[in-house]
Amino acid sequence: MIIKPRIRGFICTTAHPAGCAASVSEQISTVQAGGDIADAPKRVLVLGCSGGYGLASRVVSGFGCGAATIGVSFEKAPSEKKTGTAGWYNNLAFDAKAEAAGLYAKTLDGDAFGDVMKQSVIDLIKADLGQIDLLVYSLASPVRQHPKTGVLHRSVIKPLGETHHVKTINVDKGEVFETDFEPADEEETANTVTVMGGEDWEFWVDALNDADVLADGFSTVSYNYIGSDLTWPIYWHGTLGKAKEDLDRAASDLRDRLKNVNGDARVATLKAVVTQASSAIPVVPLYASLVFKVMKDQGVHESVIEHIDRLFREKLYGDMHGKYDEAGRIRNDDWELTDKVQDAVRELWPRVNTENVMELSDLAGFRADFLRIFGFGFSGVDYDADVSPLGVPN
Ligand code: NAD
Repeated sequence: MIIKPRIRGFICTTAHPAGCAASVSEQISTVQAGGDIADAPKRVLVLGCSGGYGLASRVVSGFGCGAATIGVSFEKAPSEKKTGTAGWYNNLAFDAKAEAAGLYAKTLDGDAFGDVMKQSVIDLIKADLGQIDLLVYSLASPVRQHPKTGVLHRSVIKPLGETHHVKTINVDKGEVFETDFEPADEEETANTVTVMGGEDWEFWVDALNDADVLADGFSTVSYNYIGSDLTWPIYWHGTLGKAKEDLDRAASDLRDRLKNVNGDARVATLKAVVTQASSAIPVVPLYASLVFKVMKDQGVHESVIEHIDRLFREKLYGDMHGKYDEAGRIRNDDWELTDKVQDAVRELWPRVNTENVMELSDLAGFRADFLRIFGFGFSGVDYDADVSPLGVPN
């Protein structure tokens, strides 16, 4: 089959196996170029390992730290006639590359919110690794079936309190426009916290701790976005922000409960990047296109893998280990949030419109990054070749 991108709104319904393999290889090369990471964990569990920040964390763990990794994700397998999801191919490629490098890597596919997956992971750790040193929590999902009640909760991306009039973009058409976002009600807000808040992270850590598979000095990190006042109405001060605020509560509670293993739990705030999850958030693609342009001009732009490499190398395990903000978080969004970057974006924000968006922003870069998530746009991949959708890790 000849696989081309088929974009529907903010998703692409096809993915290219060889392109996804090229993406994983490129990420591995980026990490290897920085050399080995000192004092690094050797047994790592990554939840949400198949794309975005989770995949980058797995690549840095494996190829920067030399760690054995277990990954968990929820992806769709391909058939003879239909491509699988990008994450499916990324996992295939990662496992093959890890095996070739002599690194232990096992990937489990299924619902991480459920008790069955938690037990499967515990059994696997006991059988193969004994214990783990690091858990990266990088799930991003619009729904969660609660393991205790069976209720299916759906998150919403809405502001809180009042209707917000915001500027946003249709990425496909390049149309910049203003629109009203109605606020969430209490039930929608509570559901969003149930899906994206800290409870599942706590369930994971508690289950692993109870099963005695956490090594002495174990640590866990969960990813967050705060951003700047330009996106606060729809993100940090909205339903997603409420859910993410709950991570701070969970981190603090977990630190208490991890004393038995001298453990640590931290929220790490990261920069805005193009992933499947972030593309679906209104305002963020316009903000990201502007911030990419500014950060590239100022020489401080990072790709997903570069950002996570810096997080591990400097903040989780390097010189800046132990430096936290007032809420106890690791701040890796520091480059995005400098006054120099934010003032430049704030200056562009009122001026950007449909006519000048290609010039004032890096919408082209945003679109390219979006296609790359699905394995399109990698040099060295023949996109006109007839390939099997079943996956060809190389
Ligand atoms: P992503 O969409 O690229 O990846 C999400 C991962 O979660 C995938 O591996 C997917 O398979 C997995 N997943 C989803 N539902 C699952 C389920 N039920 N069971 C098992 N696995 C499941 O997302 P991302 O943007 O990398 O987000 C990861 C984390 O990083 C989130 O906490 C997000 O808030 C945070 N973050 C993202 C950005 C950004 O700009 N993208 C910025 C800062 C922080």
